[in-house]
Amino acid sequence: MKIKKYKKPCPGCGELFLEDATLRAYDEYIESMPECWHTYSEILGREYGSAECFNVHRITLDAYAAQHLGKQRERKARQSANLHLIGLYLVFGKKALHAEVLQFFKQATDLKYDWPLRTRLEWPTWMTVEEVVKATTPEEHQELVTKWGQSVWNAYSEFHDEIAQTYQEFLKDYQNKIRKVDLREKNK
Ligand SMILES: [Zn+2]
Repeated sequence: MKIKKYKKPCPGCGELFLEDATLRAYDEYIESMPECWHTYSEILGREYGSAECFNVHRITLDAYAAQHLGKQRERKARQSANLHLIGLYLVFGKKALHAEVLQFFKQATDLKYDWPLRTRLEWPTWMTVEEVVKATTPEEHQELVTKWGQSVWNAYSEFHDEIAQTYQEFLKDYQNKIRKVDLREKNK
């Protein structure tokens, strides 16, 4: 007798995956089905193995984390959600230069900051790892990842202003803290 297998939705991105009992590993702060995480790992592997694919690595990290917000009660999950949503904002909303994006991630890891809670979207329409993993060439990979990132950013449209504001507040706070450290150094 053939055992019927059913697809189940990932709690993060909502994509349907066939359950595979052999899969286990997934991230501590990102809530996703092991099958979804497995497909994501395949995409990451492709990027680590090819400089051309790696060009869009930042978008891959941000898009995936923004689709899997995790337990927002935990500070680390809030930090991850906000950082990656701001990453998408900088690339797709603000169309910021690469240097600004890099600087933000450096500053955000330097400073312990109280990031606001992010809510999971109810019925988002967006691309998922299932489509991205189908790329057969590096060019196609870059194209699909870029579309994926854009689709995730678009899905958050009702929060665009809020995310931009969080970014501005963070920058202000960061500058203030840097100034305080500078003054302390001068007064020594
Ligand atoms: Zn997922």
